[in-house]
Amino acid sequence: MKKLVCAGEILVEIMAERIGQSFRAPGPLVGPFPSGAPAIFIDQAARLGQPAGLIAAVGDDDFGHLNIERLRADGADISAITVHQGAATGTAFVTYESDGSRHFVYNIKQSAAGLIEMGAEARVLLAGADHFHVMGTSLFSPEVIEIARNGIEAVKTRGGTVSFDPNIRKEMLDLPGMRDALHFVLSKTDVFLPSGAELFTFADATDEESAVREMLDRGISTIVVKKGAQGAVHYDQSGRTALPGFVVEEIDPTGAGDCFAAAFVSFWLRGEAPEKALRIANGCGALAVTKKGPMEGIASLVTVEAFIETARTGAL
Ligand code: ADP
Repeated sequence: MKKLVCAGEILVEIMAERIGQSFRAPGPLVGPFPSGAPAIFIDQAARLGQPAGLIAAVGDDDFGHLNIERLRADGADISAITVHQGAATGTAFVTYESDGSRHFVYNIKQSAAGLIEMGAEARVLLAGADHFHVMGTSLFSPEVIEIARNGIEAVKTRGGTVSFDPNIRKEMLDLPGMRDALHFVLSKTDVFLPSGAELFTFADATDEESAVREMLDRGISTIVVKKGAQGAVHYDQSGRTALPGFVVEEIDPTGAGDCFAAAFVSFWLRGEAPEKALRIANGCGALAVTKKGPMEGIASLVTVEAFIETARTGAL
């Protein structure tokens, strides 16, 4: 089976227990939950039985080991996660507002996550990789951008493939080197996974079909537009496949996009038809939102298949 690799931040997430609870006053918290978009992605792929490894850095502390142990238990390749003495694992504190929006207090760049590097273990991992997945939010420093470039070059030289989930915040676009990096990533992307309006950050067109056509004309072979609870739409040169999402009670939306992307890419790598890959991805995305904590709803293949058998779909 093809092996996929991703690079970026590992962190723990600590959540305010009550909706609308402010961090400007003491209050009850839940967590720590293992987190970090690349960790969520790799963990979900591994749970589906796909060989998957992560390049990352954590501190030699409980939060770092919590993440490493979760990834190890779920079958991920943790050989390129470096453990740093004297540095703390990254943290994200999150509060949920009553309108469903989230407010984060992050400590990533200044944490051990910022010590990520292209070390010997990362090189070995990449030498055995068939696919590299890039996440927009993980391109937070020149070092991670460099690792992404290395990862892309490594898999492409060996005839492998690249996927890209742009989930990039507008303010990140003006970071030094970011526009060049994104241009490079897009020029090498085989599978592009924007969610909703993110598609338009990278296209001139203002409607979905024309924006997708622009991206296909640039050589991206597969585009999957994630649409939250509504589901997702797949485009390639042979047409459009839309699949509605599964109806679940949303408890915590963090991580749904990463679980969805991991599932889609894993099944795409197995050569499955778009409809099957989308169905499994919608199932993993839906299950992801049913639990508090970004990695707590990650499902195994057996679990997601059983869920899909009985779950109801909504409307797209
Ligand atoms: P992102 O987190 O990247 O913004 P989305 O919110 O679009 O991505 O979620 C990714 C996928 O997860 C969706 O396409 C859908 O399959 C699934 N999903 C997300 N939220 C829900 C929900 N509330 N109910 C059911 N499925 C969901």
